[in-house]
Amino acid sequence: MPLPNFKRAYPNNRPLPETGLWFAINQHGVIVLANEDKLRLPSGTSHLPGIERPANAILLGEVNQVACLACTVPDDIVLPDGYRALGLRDLYGRLDDTLYVVAGYATQMLHWQRTSNYCANCGAPLMPIPNEWGKRCPRCSFTAYPPVSPCTITLVHDEDRILMTHKRGWGPRYGLVAGFVEPGETLEQNVEREIMEETGVEVADIRYWRSQPWPFPHQLMCGFYARYAGGDIVIDHDELDDARWFTADDIHNGRPALPAPLSIARQLIDNWLASQSPAARR
Ligand SMILES: [Zn+2]
Repeated sequence: MPLPNFKRAYPNNRPLPETGLWFAINQHGVIVLANEDKLRLPSGTSHLPGIERPANAILLGEVNQVACLACTVPDDIVLPDGYRALGLRDLYGRLDDTLYVVAGYATQMLHWQRTSNYCANCGAPLMPIPNEWGKRCPRCSFTAYPPVSPCTITLVHDEDRILMTHKRGWGPRYGLVAGFVEPGETLEQNVEREIMEETGVEVADIRYWRSQPWPFPHQLMCGFYARYAGGDIVIDHDELDDARWFTADDIHNGRPALPAPLSIARQLIDNWLASQSPAARR
């Protein structure tokens, strides 16, 4: 997803500005003004009672020269009339695209702030490293930084059909093979291994397409295409309860239900479908 208007605050050594756009987050999601058709983020310094100049506020950057501030709102604060907390999945398509991605960034950074108070090595309280997002242990010098977990997600294609997978609890929706990259593994090796382990299928011509931050809580989804190269589908029942081929016609006819438009899974599928259209084949 492009971020044409977002400029990251880095190094993060500037004082908090007096005004800005608030990405205020509680346990339910991002707090928005929801009394109009289009959702708005709170702005200024006094529009959200209970969180003015909160101690944990951070400056994430700027959108069109407007500061983007993030903070955690304690769960005991009752939101005033007109305000609602919405999860990122519910915000998709209802906020400007750039602000939506910044909301995901805010969510990841606040999750990091909340979960990085103590040294993982010796248990002492961690201290901020000046001009960085990282933290250092004053006792043992262990350092920690906001985590990003790389994952691959791959559309396996074979002529006019693609391999789609289903997990328990997904209802009618099918997705694509995905998995976390293991230590010591390349992205391409991960693509091959995950597809073999989950579906028993061999692939070739692995091609990187694009990536997407996936803040649930901190994955980086790396999207690939791969060509089917052999093998029958044999699913890993610990991971999946079904995997099967669907043709472009099946999908155009509504079978199966597809992943949500915000996901790179859906974007991989839509991009492949476009390449299968009669106009694209000419
Ligand atoms: Zn330590």
